[in-house]
Amino acid sequence: MKVHHLNCGTLRLPFATLVCHVLVVETGEGLVLVDAGFGMRDIADPATRLGVPRYFNRPALDPAETAVNQIRELGLDPGDVRHVIATHLDSDHIGGLADFPDATLHLTAAEALGAMRPPTRAERYRFNPLLWAHVPKIVEYRAEGESWRGFTAQELTDISPGIVLVPMPGHTRGHTAVAVDAGDRWVLHAGDAFMHPGRVDGRTPVPLLHSVMENMLAHDRALVRDNHARLAHLYQSSGPDLLIVCGHDRGMFEHAVVTA
Ligand SMILES: [Zn+2]
Repeated sequence: MKVHHLNCGTLRLPFATLVCHVLVVETGEGLVLVDAGFGMRDIADPATRLGVPRYFNRPALDPAETAVNQIRELGLDPGDVRHVIATHLDSDHIGGLADFPDATLHLTAAEALGAMRPPTRAERYRFNPLLWAHVPKIVEYRAEGESWRGFTAQELTDISPGIVLVPMPGHTRGHTAVAVDAGDRWVLHAGDAFMHPGRVDGRTPVPLLHSVMENMLAHDRALVRDNHARLAHLYQSSGPDLLIVCGHDRGMFEHAVVTA
C-alpha cells in the first residue's frame, strides 16, 4: 500500500522542534490515517480543545499542516478517509479526527477505557472528550493471540490486510503502535512509545529534557522502559524491509519522507 508521511503539527518546545507524524495509507477501499495530528477545530479554539499543555508543546496551529488540507494537497479526497487508527488519544494525535466526521475510529479497548471512561484522576485530566464529541463510530480491539515480529498483535483485516495493531501500553493505558505493509518495506509507527531516536538506535545520546518529558507524560514508566528495550532490539536486528518511526522525532520523519 502507498504510505504518505505527513507532519500534522509542528511543536515548538523550549528545547526541541518536534513534528506530529501522521500516516496516510492508500488502500483499495479508501484512505486510512494512523493518528490525525491537530485539526481545524483545534486551530479555531485551542483554549477549549488543547488546554494547558499547549503552553508547553506550543503547536504551530497552521491550517496548512492539518491532515485534511495536506490530503487535498496530495490530490486525494478527504472524504475518502474511512478509518482513523489512533496510537492513543492525546490531543496532539487525535485533534484532527473531527475533520473526518464519517471516519471510524479504531483503538485498543484499554485506550477507550483510559480516555473515554477514565478510571483515574490523572486520566480524567489528561484526555478531552470534546475531541470525539462528534460521536464517531468506534471499534475497540484487545489484540490477543496473534504475533507480528515477536510482538503481540492484531491484523485489522476489517480495514485492510497489511495493517496491524501492535499494542505498546505505557505512554498511556492503551497506547499502541501500528504496522503498515508499504510494499517494499513495513512501516512501524510507534506513536509515543519512544520520543527520541537514541532510545532505539543504541548510539545517539538522549537529551535529559527528552527523558524528563517522557517520564512526565508516562502512564506507566516501567512499561515505557520495557517498550524502549523491545523496540531497540527490533530496530537493531532489522534491515531495510522495516522502517520504525515515532510520533514526534523530526529527523525520523524527514528520513521517512525522502525514502517513501
Ligand atoms: Zn504525542
